[in-house]
Amino acid sequence: MKLKNRAVFVDRDGVLNEEVDYLSKVEDLKLISGSGEAVARLRAKGFKVIVISNQSAVARGRLSLSGLEIITRALRRELKRENPKSRLDAVYYCPHHPDFGKPCSCRKPEIGLIKKAQKKFNLDLRSSYFVGDSSADILAAHRAGCAPLLVKTGKGGKDGIYKAKPKKIFKNLLEASRWILKQ
Ligand SMILES: [Mg+2]
Ligand SMILES: [Zn+2]
Repeated sequence: MKLKNRAVFVDRDGVLNEEVDYLSKVEDLKLISGSGEAVARLRAKGFKVIVISNQSAVARGRLSLSGLEIITRALRRELKRENPKSRLDAVYYCPHHPDFGKPCSCRKPEIGLIKKAQKKFNLDLRSSYFVGDSSADILAAHRAGCAPLLVKTGKGGKDGIYKAKPKKIFKNLLEASRWILKQ
């Protein structure tokens, strides 16, 4: 049997880049310092690094899918600028919002996107991690069976929408990645 891979799932806004209200302009993309370094280190140790992000700006009509693609390219570029070995294995978005269409199974805290990644990358979710800044991230991690790690950047877990406890709390993604690599 083929050995399973481990992943570090990361939220995008407030974890890799600064949280802004509905990021829709590439000029507003600002990397949180250390993100590129963190991604490079995790990948060097064999983790798949996979972005799982709710982008309801699309459902709200504030951002097109091609606009979202432009931001993704810019994000990858910024990460590489910080560390050339920094590479995201995959970027998954939920473009939906229940107020602007039907409920979906991919908007966190639903785990549709995590399941999709699990299939594609043959992941062992029990030995994977999810680094996020919102309660939806933490709840999604619990539901998927990965270790929920909260960062104090972005919303810092203070949105209060869902009740879910992280396993650990870190200053930022770089600190979270240092801890993951010691496990
Ligand atoms: Mg976030
Ligand atoms: Zn969705």
